[in-house]
Amino acid sequence: MRTLITGGAGFIGSHLCERFLAEGHDVLCVDNLITGRLENIDHLRPNPHFAFIGHDISHPLKVEGPVDNVLHFASPASPVDYLKFPIQTLKVGSLGTHNMLGLARAKKARYLLASTSEVYGDPEVHPQREEYWGSVNCVGVRGCYDEAKRFAEAIVMAYHRTHGVDTRIVRIFNTYGTRMRLDDGRVLPNFMGQALRGEPLTVYGDGSQTRSFCFVSDLVEGIWRLLQSDFHEPVNLGNPDEVTILQFAEEIRALAGPGCSIEFRPLPQDDPKVRQPEISRARKLLGWEPKVSRADGLRRTLEHFRAQVKQG
Ligand code: NAD
Ligand code: UDP
Repeated sequence: MRTLITGGAGFIGSHLCERFLAEGHDVLCVDNLITGRLENIDHLRPNPHFAFIGHDISHPLKVEGPVDNVLHFASPASPVDYLKFPIQTLKVGSLGTHNMLGLARAKKARYLLASTSEVYGDPEVHPQREEYWGSVNCVGVRGCYDEAKRFAEAIVMAYHRTHGVDTRIVRIFNTYGTRMRLDDGRVLPNFMGQALRGEPLTVYGDGSQTRSFCFVSDLVEGIWRLLQSDFHEPVNLGNPDEVTILQFAEEIRALAGPGCSIEFRPLPQDDPKVRQPEISRARKLLGWEPKVSRADGLRRTLEHFRAQVKQG
């Protein structure tokens, strides 16, 4: 099996590269490093079954030889990153998704799209089940990411229906773990970095908004199982254990910086008020559910950030 993973030098992508190598696949990691890092995959580069291709997949990519699976994970993913790169985000979600579908079609490969809970926008249905169509402000600041992913889902379904490409769509909810960048602006790296440096934890708004955090090993297991399934509609993967952002700050403070204060900052535009995955589809279809508790996952992730903070 030869598996191409776009965004393979990013946080989730690098864990996927590892998993597919461990399953005996040859892995082609394609990344332009806009938000990823070579150090995420340095340990894989001596492996003769692993290859890195530096390429912006918003431009077509030629690959010699067979490809059995295309996993499309390339995209800035943190709000701070996609607000910094809105056009690149729209291009990789649209042109990049199209280019990789063309490659999958030509190679008769299976295709898996990394979509997101952001397709539900600021949801009016809670928890979010796959049948919900979402509530997205297309001209708001998050529109570049949300609409790119909604377009990506639409073109994946069109390639499936029109050309018979064997596609999968995973809607990923907030995922965390080792190899997240300390400066990616997401809530967990921010809080952990702040707590470890003895700075105030910055809670946006009054902290009553909720998220549900999934440890990366659970997500990777779900993606692996979804790829083996024959299901083409979207599948939510995430941990339904929902928490307010204020409570999350308190948990991280207790773990990493008990002396730190909590500082309230303005809530960013269109910040979803609630988010929790409804995962009965994944449970039934894949026999999957998350195994790592937040307490355990936070402890494991803290060690990674402790090392990063020490390096400065
Ligand atoms: P990340 O920023 O760590 O990884 C994304 C990778 O894609 C980076 O290595 C980046 O350099 C690469 N990339 C971006 N544009 C590219 C382009 N045009 N060509 C080639 N490479 C490009 O982010 P992540 O958290 O690992 O997210 C990976 C995927 O999962 C994204 O598609 C994201 O939308 C999706 N996702 C992540 C989460 C989460 O909680 N982490 C939630 C929902 C969806
Ligand atoms: N957030 C926060 N403080 C921070 C960073 C984020 O309170 O320093 C909040 C943010 O407003 C949102 C939640 O934490 O309500 C999750 O934000 P993140 O950027 O991690 O991703 P999102 O789930 O919004 O895509």
